Amino acid sequence: MKIRNCLNPSQPCFSFEFFPPKTDAGVASLLRTVEELAPLNPGFVSVTYGAGGSTRDRTVDLVTHIKKHTGIEAMAHLTCVGHTRDELRDVLRRLDAARIENLLLLRGDPPQGQQTFEPVPGGFRYAEELVRFVREEDFNFCLGGACYPEGHVETASREDDLKHLKAKVDSGMDFVVTQLFFDNAFYFDFVERARRAGINVPIVPGIMPITNYEQVQRFTRMCGATVPMRLALQMERVKDQPDAVVQLGVAHATVQCMELLARGVPGIHFYTLNKSPATRMIVSALRARS
Ligand code: FAD
Repeated sequence: MKIRNCLNPSQPCFSFEFFPPKTDAGVASLLRTVEELAPLNPGFVSVTYGAGGSTRDRTVDLVTHIKKHTGIEAMAHLTCVGHTRDELRDVLRRLDAARIENLLLLRGDPPQGQQTFEPVPGGFRYAEELVRFVREEDFNFCLGGACYPEGHVETASREDDLKHLKAKVDSGMDFVVTQLFFDNAFYFDFVERARRAGINVPIVPGIMPITNYEQVQRFTRMCGATVPMRLALQMERVKDQPDAVVQLGVAHATVQCMELLARGVPGIHFYTLNKSPATRMIVSALRARS
């Protein structure tokens, strides 16, 4: 199933993102999480692509396994980091042979210790080039990419970022998924600006339920997302009570999702961090309501 066909405001699809664990025990635990989330009937799940090393093979193995053994549509992420064109073609062939139909194509972050992104010789500098490459090769993938309601951390301005997103989409993307955000106003404003700029593909909001306050502070520092003052203060008050943090995080994300659905989003992509309880609670609440 091509994901572009399940992104529909009249029947929005929920999707879950996982990352490839480093150990076999981690993989076993992730597969249990997938099983726990399967009854929620996700439109698809996705597995991120690591910065290097063995977890990259695990992305291919995991999407193959999930699709084959659970029947859930599984999308592989793929980045430009450290790969030549030939290596990328190789990964694409493996994914195609495993009947993976959907890819999220990304540039990737600069490897640790590097301030700016430098492509390897024979590789790509921007996600747009990777999209163009996949379209030029003899594949038939449905392609997604990333977008940033609050602007990408490296960009000089949101206008520049949008201009680059438009070029990336025009090079052959079917949909985009947003970076996590905690204030829906950023998403609605972004969608409006994107539509005005002629970006017409579905823009799927990415939601991460807060389950650990320190972790969220780390993530938001890295990706530039803002925690609204009110939520930050509420979190500060309960930060030493792990259950209260989860309850607040789930409540906030549920309210966010309810508003997004009421305003006609085509789907919601959950950053699960390989855990099921928070996402299960939110999606169950949303389903109970519809
Ligand atoms: P690009 O679209 O290439 O943009 C990168 C920067 O370059 C932006 O600032 C953009 O404005 C600028 N730019 C783009 N084109 C041009 C141009 N022609 N000229 C000048 N500037 C330009 N990372 C991983 O390592 N693995 C993953 O699996 C992964 N999954 C992700 C999933 C989602 C939904 C999101 C939102 C992010 C994910 N990331 C992942 C993180 C992502 O790799 C980083 O945010 C990375 O820094 C940018 O990737 P991109 O594909 O958005 O890059």
